[in-house]
Parts: sequence; structure tokens; C-alpha cells
Amino acid sequence: MTTTGQAGYPQLSLYIDGEWGQGSGGRGADVVNPATEDVLGRVPFAEPADVDAAIAAARAAFPKWRDAGPDYRSAILLKTAALLHQRADEIGRVMTLEEGKPLAEAAGEVHRAAAGLQWNTEEARRAYGRIIPSGPDEILSVRVVPVGPVGAFVPWNFPAGGPMRKISAALAAGCSIVIKPSEEVPGTVSLIARAFEEAGLPPGVLNVLFGVPDEISRKVIPDPAIRFIAFTGSVPVGKHLAGLAASAMKPTHMELGGHAPVIVCADTDPVKAARTAVRAKIVNAGQVCTSPSRFLVDRRVYDAFTQAFAEAMAAIKVGNGLEPGVQMGPMVSHRRLVAVQKLIEDAVSAGATVVTGGQPIEGTGYFYQPTVLTDVPASAAILSEEPFGPVAPIAPFDDLDAALEVANSLPFGLAAYAYTDSAATAEKLIAGFEAGILSINHCGGSVPQAPSGGVKDSGYGREGGPEGLAGFLVTKRVSHKLSGGSGGTGSPPSRGGHRGGRPPGGDK
Ligand code: NAD
Repeated sequence: MTTTGQAGYPQLSLYIDGEWGQGSGGRGADVVNPATEDVLGRVPFAEPADVDAAIAAARAAFPKWRDAGPDYRSAILLKTAALLHQRADEIGRVMTLEEGKPLAEAAGEVHRAAAGLQWNTEEARRAYGRIIPSGPDEILSVRVVPVGPVGAFVPWNFPAGGPMRKISAALAAGCSIVIKPSEEVPGTVSLIARAFEEAGLPPGVLNVLFGVPDEISRKVIPDPAIRFIAFTGSVPVGKHLAGLAASAMKPTHMELGGHAPVIVCADTDPVKAARTAVRAKIVNAGQVCTSPSRFLVDRRVYDAFTQAFAEAMAAIKVGNGLEPGVQMGPMVSHRRLVAVQKLIEDAVSAGATVVTGGQPIEGTGYFYQPTVLTDVPASAAILSEEPFGPVAPIAPFDDLDAALEVANSLPFGLAAYAYTDSAATAEKLIAGFEAGILSINHCGGSVPQAPSGGVKDSGYGREGGPEGLAGFLVTKRVSHKLSGGSGGTGSPPSRGGHRGGRPPGGDK
């Protein structure tokens, strides 16, 4: 592994057809440490010719990778996972430098990315087809095969987990991939790509591009060689990319934003609930698509919950993620700091009360105070726009049905949470929440063995679990007449004409 740049930051390159290069045009951008504002390195941008080369490499590599079989693929992918587990601290340090999250959170993410790769690799070995009972002269079967070269685009908030969810599912399923991770956090994924290379991944199976996102997606998505599009990011960009994919008739997975409601009922311990919810709220400084972001609390426990929540938020140690004991790092960029500040200013000017926080932390770095708001009017933008920051608006409710209606009132439908000791209330909320990811009595994170994904504007398709691999596979129906074109050997005539049997050609 090479970490030769400033402060052990890796040399950044494009990775195309097994070669590391600087792109053909000399364009690029500085990568900035959000805790210190130091420039860590320079990420090269792909030119159109580089994008074409990556697509051509993925197209050429695909049939060989597909036909090599699961034993061959598994050996390489599981070796990569082992290397990533070994290097989790080192790669996590690079992630902290470029993205800001605390070191333990970053290293944990690398371990989870490696575990996801292991799980997808093992699960892909069970991509069974089936034989369907059929006539005496026919074998009717369903075959499951890799969809083909994949085009993927992922954001900056999970520099290891984001890319790995796409890469691991694609490669385990037998697909090749062209991926454009975020230009803001290119170091982590570069080290992941190096681990794949060292584990023996053939050239062209994984291609990593950085550049101007719109330039790259406009080339990759319509290219006939690319057969499946996977995107994680904001709703507006997701809708734009889904549109491009629709015009090229490409299937897609869209993992988009959310604005997760948390309903806290009166029959729960409000202090315990507040403490576990704060732990979820500050993960990655709130820059998580499933971050709990709208708190609706039964009025009978509202004061106790709000006080405990605000105290726990105020006690969070914010700082450079490399320092011991730091629980929350900076926002990823000045752009994101400004976006969060604007939402909070808008709420306050509309009448919200700041219980704790409410300001950027003065000095170097893009640090924001963990913030709790109450009395937020329904018209404030923070109640309808995904805040993507360490801020929690809390409101009381008197009627559970009305709270559920508020929870479901936005176009988002990604995660939803509830705290209650009543199984009946929990089941009512599980049935009533319009969201794809639900947790009761905690705000749970994703796991490789279970599917994650949204409904409504939060997108479609799932990552994780057998469902996560399904998008990277296509199903073929195969009816195999054993007697060639001779018309069959003893196949009984279908009784009642074609009413019960299959007419030649069928219905489609
Ligand atoms: P953004 O929509 O500008 O960018 C998100 C990601 O999409 C970035 O990595 C970017 O490079 C990529 N992207 C943007 N335009 C693209 C294009 N035309 N083609 C291909 N890729 C493109 O958002 P942002 O300012 O970086 O983040 C803010 C918002 O994004 C958040 O408020 C949140 O809603 C959303 N977001 C969601 C997730 C998630 O996990 N669902 C992750 C990060 C950001």
C-alpha cells in the first residue's frame, strides 16, 4: 500500500484497465482536510477519452470475469476483504484526513466494508436458478446471470462503505464496474482499489474515475456497453440520473436522501431513548442519509426527552477525528457547513428556539456545534429539507395518528424510527411508516445481510441482503426441447387444444 502524499495521504490516480494514471488532460482539484483546511493532495480528473477507456476496459473484462466462475472470483474477493480488515486502521486514518469522521468510526467503516464484500461474495455463490417441472421432452429452467458492466456513482459521506456496496455486489455477481466515487474523498477508495489489485483482480474488472460528475455520468449512462446504473446521493441528482438511464432503457438502483422521523412514545424511558438517539444523530456529524432528523415526542415525556437529548448533544466532544476521545468531526466541506448554517438561521428567524448549539465552531476547520431546536414552525425549511448535519428539531405530539401523519408527510421515505415499550404500538408504526428502513427502540445502521433502501423520493432498489445482489443479475427463462427440431418423441398431445398448455410462441 502506498501512502506517499502529505501526512501519509495516498498518491491519487485514476484506475483504468489495471493502470494507475493521471488522466489525459491535466485537470484536477485539491483535496482538503476538513479539520485543518490543509490541502492533502490533488485528484486528477478524467477526460472523455479516459471515460471511454474505462468503459472499454470494463466491456472487455466482463466476459472473462463472468466465465471465470465463483471459485476464482471468491478467492480474489475474499483475499481483498482480508487485506482491508488488516489495513482498516491505516485506511481509516486516510478517511479521517479527507472526510473528517473520528478514527474509530472510520476504521469501523473499513471493517464493515470488508464484511460487506465477504457477505456479497458468499451470497453470490447461491445465485441459483431453478428447474421447473415440464413436459417429457423439455427442460424448462430459469438461469440467473450477471447483468453486465455496471456504471456507479457514489457520494462522500461513506468513503469506504459507499463505493464498496456497489463494487462488492457487482464483482461478486460476476459483473465488471466503472465507478465514479466522490472527488472530495478520493484517497480511501484508491486504497481499496489497490487492495483489489494486490489480491489479483484482473485488469478492467474495476475501473475508478474521478472528474466532473456531470461529464462522466452523461458518457457512462447511455453507453451501450454499460448495462446497469447504481447511484447513491441526493434526490435531485438521483432523479436526473434516473432520467438519463430511462432514456437509454437501463435498469437502476437509486439510494437517495431521507429525512428520518423519530417517534418517541410516552411508554418508553425518555432519557434512555434520548441517549441512544444522540449516538445515532452524531454519526458522521449527521451526514448520513438515514440520520434521525425530525423528532416527534409524546408531550408527556417531551420535557424529559428534550432535556436529556440536549444535555447529551452539548456534552459531545467535537474536534479533529485523529485526536483521542473525539466523538464528532467536522462537516465534510465548507459548502456543507454553510448549508447547515442556512437551515438553522432560517428556522431561528421563523421563531425556533436554540436549546443548544446553533453556530459553527470558531477557528480552523468546518466544525459545527451539535444543535437542538424546539418550537420550529412547520414552514421552516429544516422540517422539509434533509439537514445532513448535527442538528435535531424536536416537537411534541398529543396524538399518535397525527404524529404518524407528520412523519409520512414528506416526499422522502428512507428511514423511520420509534421508541415504545408496547409491541402493539410498535407494530402499528411498523405498518404505518412510509419508509424502507425501520428501527424500533434504537436507530439501527445498515448490515450486509439485510436490505437497505427507500420508497417514494428516497429511491428504489436495495443494497445488502439477497435483494442487493438481485439488481446485478438478470434472469433468463430457458425452455430446452430435447428432440431438436423434429417435433418431439412421444410428447402427449395437449388435452383441450391450447387452453391448458403453451401455444407455440406463447403470449410473449
Ligand atoms: P450532491 O447531490 O451535489 O452530490 C451527491 C453526490 O452525487 C456527489 O458525490 C456528487 O459527485 C454526485 N453527483 C452530483 N451530480 C452528479 C452528476 N450529474 N452525475 C453523477 N454524479 C453526480 O449533494 P452534496 O452537496 O454533495 O450533498 C448534499 C446532499 O446530498 C445531502 O443533503 C443529501 O441530501 C444528499 N446526499 C445523500 C447521500 C445518501 O447517502 N443518500 C449521500 C451524500 C449526500
